[in-house]
Amino acid sequence: MHELSVSQLVDGLRNGEFSSVELTQCFVDRMQKFNDLNAFITELSERALLQAAHADKLIKDNQHSLLTGVPIAHKDIFCMHGVKTSCGSKMLDNFIAPYDATVVEKLDQAGCVTIGRTNMDEFAMGSSNESSYYGTVKNPWNKDRVPGGSSGGSAAAVAARIAPLATGTDTGGSIRQPAALCGITGLKPTYGRVSRFGMIAYASSLDQGGPFGKSAEDCAYMLQAMAGFDEKDSTSLDKPVPEYTQLLNASLHDSLKGKVIGVPEEYFSEGLSADVKRVIENAIAWYEQQGCEIKSISLPNTKLAIPAYYVIAPAECSSNLSRFDGVRYGYRCDEPQDLRDLYDRSRSEGFGDEVKRRIMIGTYALSAGYYDAYYLKAQQIRRLISEDFKKAFEQVDVILGPTTPEPAFKIGEKTADPVTMYLSDIYTISINLAGVPAMSVPCGFVNDQQSDLPVGMQLIGNYFEEEKLLNFAHQYQLDTDWHKKSPSGFE
Ligand code: GLN
Repeated sequence: MHELSVSQLVDGLRNGEFSSVELTQCFVDRMQKFNDLNAFITELSERALLQAAHADKLIKDNQHSLLTGVPIAHKDIFCMHGVKTSCGSKMLDNFIAPYDATVVEKLDQAGCVTIGRTNMDEFAMGSSNESSYYGTVKNPWNKDRVPGGSSGGSAAAVAARIAPLATGTDTGGSIRQPAALCGITGLKPTYGRVSRFGMIAYASSLDQGGPFGKSAEDCAYMLQAMAGFDEKDSTSLDKPVPEYTQLLNASLHDSLKGKVIGVPEEYFSEGLSADVKRVIENAIAWYEQQGCEIKSISLPNTKLAIPAYYVIAPAECSSNLSRFDGVRYGYRCDEPQDLRDLYDRSRSEGFGDEVKRRIMIGTYALSAGYYDAYYLKAQQIRRLISEDFKKAFEQVDVILGPTTPEPAFKIGEKTADPVTMYLSDIYTISINLAGVPAMSVPCGFVNDQQSDLPVGMQLIGNYFEEEKLLNFAHQYQLDTDWHKKSPSGFE
């Protein structure tokens, strides 16, 4: 059952081939059996089985919605009423959310059954899951390697077939990079497509929630249920949500022939591993065989994306994280001497090193005298990066390149040097700065002697063209089976 696609799950449930209770039990058993991956912070087995029983009743009464009875996992960043919502931090280890995030509410309404809350880098800051207070997540393809981050628990859970679908958030690559490193499909929607209400904020102008699934078709189901206007999020856009699942049916030739794919030269330069490059070139060749025109393009400001991001994201995080002060909720130090001591010690004991580093960088960049030199400059660069994409989309339908410069790296390999870690997101960060949608699609493997490690290609689209991206990926997946491969040991 765990290898079935979401549409097969939906059909199987409705045709009575299996019940949601049976299906949920299968995934709950896998969650427990493979807990050495450390993909989950909180398991919700009992709650899930109750939800599943309710879903079975709805199906029996013909009251089902899009995903009724389908098990999912939530990244531990989405507030869930009555459930611990830690955001991977000691600061929120004792926090029980008093309300649901809009994404949680929408997926509940769509009938999903939540089996657990997935591990993540602390406050979504990281590219390897190593900054989590709950410990590193292991990559199911090779347990000595990282799953990527910050949504590493969600990506590992889907890759190990512990959940058919999982939510993630992507501020600079946190859906696409772990999807690539774990060999699954992940989509970061256009900024404003998915509500941020109840999604614990890291860098508000960049954060966006999105789906992880085995395939583009699976992601289409989850996106359809997650997306849409929300009056509780002032940056969510009031635009109708397309029926993503219905839009995937176009026949192979008709939908790709004559389409123009832009290949940015900056994404194939120094720093890209030769093995990854070869795999991506094969994917490009496939599109060419389907009648796509491949066009070399330039995104000239790509090299400025990391420096601009590492001013803007810490600046916003320093402001967002000021609410964690030990007073209202979250961690409080023992026996504070006075108010100042309470703030100081609660924050120094509650936050991990990476979070503290970013709060300090952000506070510095925003301080009087430095604001113009850093924050304002970074915002100007952000505009230039958006212009690069705007110009590119005047000539091309989608942009294709690698998601990451290399496959999954070893646990511990980059923890000593934050800048090396930041470079893992070199191809994903500019997309968040521009706000356009992008996805990572499995397209092959590289072999490192011990194991095969998956490679992801990144497809980038113009604003609100999620359906075009999903279709490009879906056509590829109809003809290739990289997305069907699962790591050994998880049969
Ligand atoms: N790795 C990037 C960072 O550390 C992106 C994280 C994310 O997308 N949440 O900020």
